[in-house]
Amino acid sequence: MKTPRIIPPGSTIGILGGGQLGRMTALAAAQLGYRCQVYSPDEHSIAGDVAAGHVRRAYDDVEALRSFAGQVDVITYEFENVPEAAVATCLEVKPVRPGVKPIHVAQHRLREKQFFAALGIGTAACQPVRSKTELATATLLPGILKTCQEGYDGKGQARVTDRASLAAAWEKLGRCECILEAVVDFQCEVSAIVARGLDGAMRCFPIGLNDHRDGILRTTTVPADLPADVLATAERFGLALARGLDLVGLVALEMFVTRDGTVLANEMAPRPHNSGHWTIDACATSQFEQLVRAICGLPLGPVDVMAPSRMENLIGAEANDWPRYLADPSARLHLYGKASARPGRKMGHVTYVQPAGSCRRSTI
Ligand code: ATP
Ligand code: MG
Repeated sequence: MKTPRIIPPGSTIGILGGGQLGRMTALAAAQLGYRCQVYSPDEHSIAGDVAAGHVRRAYDDVEALRSFAGQVDVITYEFENVPEAAVATCLEVKPVRPGVKPIHVAQHRLREKQFFAALGIGTAACQPVRSKTELATATLLPGILKTCQEGYDGKGQARVTDRASLAAAWEKLGRCECILEAVVDFQCEVSAIVARGLDGAMRCFPIGLNDHRDGILRTTTVPADLPADVLATAERFGLALARGLDLVGLVALEMFVTRDGTVLANEMAPRPHNSGHWTIDACATSQFEQLVRAICGLPLGPVDVMAPSRMENLIGAEANDWPRYLADPSARLHLYGKASARPGRKMGHVTYVQPAGSCRRSTI
């Protein structure tokens, strides 16, 4: 059966992956009258908790993937490390948006860097370390050695200062495919989140100013207090990336801003992004609603900032402070319903939204 171009409210969205990004996507989809089915091997899925169903099967279970795809109208993914083969299997049955290409690029740091370069998007200097020969000839020291695949929240990378620490780090990372990046002396980090619709229309959310600690995002502030040309370059890079990927959906591009105002891309994620959580409470359209609109062929929503805001991640035991956030009138609390608050685990977030003041006279 031919899939209609527009997937109207009342249809079912399949989500590969069962974490908080899937959970917030399912909540936004429900608001627009869609149902979601989650596919994830995890015993418990916090996305499945708020969806119509959770298919608990492995990503290499071809029959289960085909059956899942048969029961939904369109499929998306909430993390970029879904095996490419799983996405390809689903694609034989139903549209998967944003598709195979974005994860193919995002799953490999070297490929990703080369893709950025081909689009004219600047990056930190880097060189591959995939063999003893490349290890011996690497020159970008001091630098950061990163595994090409499967790193997240600062895992799978090490700061190295000299040849000895580089060799030790490569051993520790299992002699796998790595890249060595020059350390960027940045003044700040920013991200652009771009939606691209079925018709090729694009919207970039206002650029977020991001603060990372120990490799994990701590806060995002919007509007970002940066010169207009820096913000414009960050947006231009995000739009070029979405177009270059021929994306239908969302892509986030994380960038460094150097002390002289040069914007350098760090990495991308073709899905909703932690640095876009502020949009739920302080933007005309949330990133999750925008994803639903894009993959269902609906018009994209406006991306105006409704109020200055700051999103803070609640990591590990910080989420136990929920009574404090509930008592704060400027704080909007989001808890993900995860069972155990392991150190370093993202348990929720809180967005501080500047009140608009008294609204006695409405212009609406
Ligand atoms: P995440 O899951 O948060 O995206 P990750 O494991 O994919 O993290 P990166 O995004 O590469 O790792 O790096 C995490 C953080 O480490 C960056 O946001 C930045 O603060 C710092 N970092 C990474 N690469 C560099 C670099 N070349 N120079 C300076 N700092 C860097
Ligand atoms: Mg990152």
